Amino acid sequence: MPRRCTVCDHPETHSIDETLVTGAPYRSVAKRFGLSESAVYRHKTEHLPVHLLKAREVEEVAQADDLLEQVRNLQAHALGILDRAEKAGDLRTALAAISQARGNLELLGKLAGELDERPVVNLNVSPEWLELRAVIVGALEPHPAAHSAVLRALECGQ
Ligand SMILES: [Zn+2]
Repeated sequence: MPRRCTVCDHPETHSIDETLVTGAPYRSVAKRFGLSESAVYRHKTEHLPVHLLKAREVEEVAQADDLLEQVRNLQAHALGILDRAEKAGDLRTALAAISQARGNLELLGKLAGELDERPVVNLNVSPEWLELRAVIVGALEPHPAAHSAVLRALECGQ
């Protein structure tokens, strides 16, 4: 069994880490927190990098979550615009909203793929995407040329 680290076991281990990161000398850190100099040295060389790495991972996951949230908001907006444009019969705006929504879905898929523990979004089976496809195709049925052009474009991207 490895010897317990008095710094890791210290109730103020987080403050000690922060102090060590600023480059404070072992002696003053040891004195300030009532630890031995060798324990502080061993902790800094062996444990601090692991702590820092973990802290960075937590931060990255938080940032990725934030990005996901933003893309989800964009997606909600795009779908709202699509809905309104479709009701107004404004196909140009509807197509722009579709293209935006599709880009958002791809971005969501990429973001999700970068986070190991999250499932990768598969556009072909995503209910949102299938629903969107049905809306697009349905909206364009009275316009055969646009209908087939959009169908072709959708097929190409998959
Ligand atoms: Zn330690």
